[in-house]
Amino acid sequence: MEQGKRRDCLKDGGARLPQMQYSQFRKLGEMEKRGKKDGNGRKQDVKRESVTGFCIEWMWDLLFPRRCPVCDGVLRFRKEYICPECLEKIKFIREPACMKCGKGLREEAEYCYDCARKKHLYIQGAALFEYGSAASSIYRFKYGGRQEYAVFFGRSMAVMLGERMRRWRVQALVPVPIHVSRLRKRGYNQAQLLAEVISSYTGIPVRTDIIARQKKTAPQKELDEKQRQNNLKRAFKILRNDVKLSTIVIIDDIYTTGSTIDAMTAMLHAAGVEKVYYAALAIGSGL
Ligand SMILES: [Zn+2]
Ligand SMILES: [Zn+2]
Repeated sequence: MEQGKRRDCLKDGGARLPQMQYSQFRKLGEMEKRGKKDGNGRKQDVKRESVTGFCIEWMWDLLFPRRCPVCDGVLRFRKEYICPECLEKIKFIREPACMKCGKGLREEAEYCYDCARKKHLYIQGAALFEYGSAASSIYRFKYGGRQEYAVFFGRSMAVMLGERMRRWRVQALVPVPIHVSRLRKRGYNQAQLLAEVISSYTGIPVRTDIIARQKKTAPQKELDEKQRQNNLKRAFKILRNDVKLSTIVIIDDIYTTGSTIDAMTAMLHAAGVEKVYYAALAIGSGL
């Protein structure tokens, strides 16, 4: 595609990002060397921004022995985030990707099939994995009590998507809220865990005091598009009248059709937030 043509389709403030390097993926399985400089004298980009975050992760490791999110085997204490062979099994989203939702495309195109036909309210989004390659792992993370996977998942999102969030100039990470009754039953909100780990690497604050889920919605995966929209109407409520943020990124675990992100975006726009982006752990593969 020509450069000029590509720039034209970025009027909404999005930006095509450089292709991720495979060497970045390799780093995800290793412990970070805090503050160590690379061969060019630059500091490595995986150091922690927050000491508190480091302490929380250390405590977390003591309470919940770190497990490989793919095979679920216990890893050596504070040595690894994932088995090296399991890292090979996860498919990361690579270019070409949809310029709106970030879905991986089989061939070079601006938008995926869905985004070419549907207008989204958010500006741009990105996801880390192809859902199919990490589905059972994400299922255990979400429904199987494996909250410790957040360490690998959140860290991976910070390493792979942190730079993008800085370019977006986001002021806060806003996890997709779950209903309080679901939170009580599950014990945690997986999107919030991801946001907290990302925050500890990027220094971008997590805000859970802005938006909440006010009614228990049926699981989106069981519904068609029309039902999804109805399901999401009035699903969220704004918690404060002085939001005072202009740019935020919504953090989610799985991006499916974007209905949830759009519903939240509509509410956030009404509360005065101008620019809304999203970042998710996984997304389906596109056409
Ligand atoms: Zn493994
Ligand atoms: Zn798309």
